[in-house]
Amino acid sequence: MIKHVSVLGSTGSVGTQALEICDAYAIQVEAVAAYSNVKLLEEQIRRFRPKAAAIADAARYADLKLAVADCPVTLLSGPESLEEMAATIYADGEMLLNAVVGMAGLKPTLAAIEAGKSIALANKETLVAGGDLVMRRARGKGVSILPVDSEHSAIFQCLSGHNRDNSIHKIILTASGGPFRGMSLEELEKVTPEDALKHPNWSMGRKITIDSATMMNKGLEVIEAVHLFGVTTRQIEIVVHPESVVHSAVEFVDGAVLAQMGMPEMTIPIQYAFSYPDRMPTPVKRLSLTDYGALYFYKPDLEAFGALKACIQAVDVGGLLPAVANGANEAAVPLFLEKRIGFNDIPRLVTGAMDALSASLKEGKYTLEDVVKADRQAREYVWQSVGGQN
Ligand code: MG
Repeated sequence: MIKHVSVLGSTGSVGTQALEICDAYAIQVEAVAAYSNVKLLEEQIRRFRPKAAAIADAARYADLKLAVADCPVTLLSGPESLEEMAATIYADGEMLLNAVVGMAGLKPTLAAIEAGKSIALANKETLVAGGDLVMRRARGKGVSILPVDSEHSAIFQCLSGHNRDNSIHKIILTASGGPFRGMSLEELEKVTPEDALKHPNWSMGRKITIDSATMMNKGLEVIEAVHLFGVTTRQIEIVVHPESVVHSAVEFVDGAVLAQMGMPEMTIPIQYAFSYPDRMPTPVKRLSLTDYGALYFYKPDLEAFGALKACIQAVDVGGLLPAVANGANEAAVPLFLEKRIGFNDIPRLVTGAMDALSASLKEGKYTLEDVVKADRQAREYVWQSVGGQN
């Protein structure tokens, strides 16, 4: 078990569950960072006594400072504060849990790699937007990236003890299908944010819940898997599995298929990233296969869920196109939540941004600045398409 951790995105769904594990296993929380939730950050500072805390929204800094004036904690603020926190080594052997939502997690991931910290990665957009860059730098620094996304943790567990180079036939990436599984494109036209926010199995933040409903989340996970496991999209089979019990599987060249199963609880993959390569007892409800009785598996509908198809195309082309797909989606999701666009506009805008920008994107090896630019262009495309700034 790790002994020290810093948590970026500590007030979110993954962050709060991670802190409960820290509490249960006496892991010292060295630093916490959130976007704007002062109240919960204050509670966390009082309970876990971190050395540092960061609030990305600079407008909330004064409130936080006042709230924890009596606590011995170094406060950071502003968009760069997460990077600064990721780059600072607070304790020997400290791990960074990156549970930030969106592309905002990329710079902190790179900063942590530079500092030589091992990373538990719950921020999939990091690998989607800048996968080549992140993996190259992590290899160069000998930094390990442990996946926290439940599917990727499953694949990682199935691959454990196997030679990855010649033994993988394919990865079976499971998807719950979200709340709109089985719906046609026409039926999806009318769904509302309220409908989309009701996920059948997983309790998660708003952005990822909408991504699950559009299946953009699965598309982002395909891209994440390509980078983490060095496979192509031809080696990834997406299987819709409504019960979310099989978290993913690997088929080896000899025909053996190993799957990782468990309750749909994020606590399990978060804890595994902390305890790897050991395993520790869990407080969560245990899986009973006989309670389920049957598990179901279906092919995904790429016509109804165009965001998934777009992500597969984006990573097949590679380079900066996945950053464009992700940036367009990050701009479109809040517009859908504000009811300024319809549900099917999300995949339309993702595909539209890819079509509009693909010819002008820099080819070959890219830098962080290139990713940031592609991301911004994609967001601007979305805002212009709906008429005006965000
Ligand atoms: Mg997942």
